[in-house]
Amino acid sequence: MSVLINFKICDNAKECGGIAICPTGALKWNEKKETIEIDNEKCISCGKCENECPIGAIRVAKTEAEYKKIKEEIDNDPRTQKDLFVDRYGATPLSERFIAKPETLNEKIHKSEIVIVELFDDDSIECLLKSIPIKDIFKELPDNSLFYKIECNADIKRDLNINELPVLLVYENGEFVGKIEGYYSIDQKEEMYKKLKQII
Ligand code: SF4
Repeated sequence: MSVLINFKICDNAKECGGIAICPTGALKWNEKKETIEIDNEKCISCGKCENECPIGAIRVAKTEAEYKKIKEEIDNDPRTQKDLFVDRYGATPLSERFIAKPETLNEKIHKSEIVIVELFDDDSIECLLKSIPIKDIFKELPDNSLFYKIECNADIKRDLNINELPVLLVYENGEFVGKIEGYYSIDQKEEMYKKLKQII
């Protein structure tokens, strides 16, 4: 009958597993508008997309009553993207959801007003417990701020003049506005916030 997407928590990416698995083309990526589009005329309520979404942002309604109930749940959902940031700065990526490919960096930085990208490599990974939760780093940033982790390569390192990894790259309205290089442990959390506030 109908598919609904909770865009409050969906990262609205063209790599969406729901688009890939949909057998009828009811979910598709609109390149021009840079958004996932729903064509409910094509939806057969098979539920494949719902099962594919790792964070439960895609919901499928089989009846009108179910549609209303799900819509209300989405409308009243207080969560934002930031509530799903389970990763920690400088630690091994925990959630594949926030890992992006180096070649998609340019595309990602235009996705929201504030986009923060962590660049890392195998040598820059530190102890998970001693690193700063990304959710904490984002607590004073706008709700629609986005976070990605990208494995750094030589081209990015050269283009952005990176001396030390890990690094947080900060983008505002698609423009690079600053970076914070080097590892910050949980004990240096306040210092990290201060630097971030100076940039944004
Ligand atoms: S429920 Fe099935 S047909 Fe409908 S959008 Fe999801 S995958 Fe496509």
